[in-house]
Amino acid sequence: MSKPTHQVKQSVLPFSGKEKGSVSLVGAGPGDPELLTVKALRCIQQADLIIYDRLVSEEICALFPSTTPTLYVGKAKNHHSVEQSRINELLVEKALQGKHICRLKGGDAFVFGRGGEEVMSLKQQGIAVEIIPGITAAAGCTAYAGIPLTHRGVSQGCTFVTAHAETDLQINWHGLALLNHTLVFYMGLSKSQMISTQLQAAGLDSQTPVALIERGCTTDQRLIQGKLAQLPELVVQHQLQSPTLIVVGKVVDLAEQLSWFEQQVASTTAVSTTRLSA
Ligand code: SAH
Repeated sequence: MSKPTHQVKQSVLPFSGKEKGSVSLVGAGPGDPELLTVKALRCIQQADLIIYDRLVSEEICALFPSTTPTLYVGKAKNHHSVEQSRINELLVEKALQGKHICRLKGGDAFVFGRGGEEVMSLKQQGIAVEIIPGITAAAGCTAYAGIPLTHRGVSQGCTFVTAHAETDLQINWHGLALLNHTLVFYMGLSKSQMISTQLQAAGLDSQTPVALIERGCTTDQRLIQGKLAQLPELVVQHQLQSPTLIVVGKVVDLAEQLSWFEQQVASTTAVSTTRLSA
């Protein structure tokens, strides 16, 4: 029997708003360049201008074509990042010059990425926009740490929370504690004391497992595990730096059985060391 032939269908028409300029809002994922989507990579390769943030990893920046102009709008050492309102203006300005812009952000632009604000501002000016989702830190970092966000009989759900707010932080700690499922805190490093104290005050067991994943999905990834009551101590003791993701819940204990990435990194290092000494 002959092999059935499949017609390759283009799932979505290629985005082009060249005459007027356009913006692709692209999620770059959590760090590993191989976690970029095919669509994200194509956009990086075809853009007239790339505007990117601090969380876009060096390895991903290395994929920028050398001839494409780039603009960095993240935080420089000891400096504030470019204001969101300025970024919105910049995107509009450059698009109105007729450029096709790749607006590249860490993880997914719609998960604590302020992507919605950028799209609103562009649409108000009648500029064509497309959105390319990326792997958000909660999905990427936990996978590379061997922690499933949900697991049959252990956790039936998960909630993403930001521990950072421009003005007042409004978190329903009692609501979170009651969920009895996995909690993932973005931007929580400087708020580890508050997360630990508030969750315990709301009724979560002080012995609930916690994980801190620093620079997840990169070869520098560090996974620190402990209990909810120790969370602030762990941050100090291991001198954890941003970006770090905090995971709270019983699924953390599965890392012992499910870890794989550390072994892979270790074996790659061993191979390169052997090669170096050969
Ligand atoms: N839009 C991004 C999140 C931006 S908020 C996304 O979808 O992933 C920034 C926070 O994300 C950081 O403070 C950290 O808590 C988390 N984060 C992002 N990338 C990370 C990484 N590679 N390792 C650990 N945490 C990460």
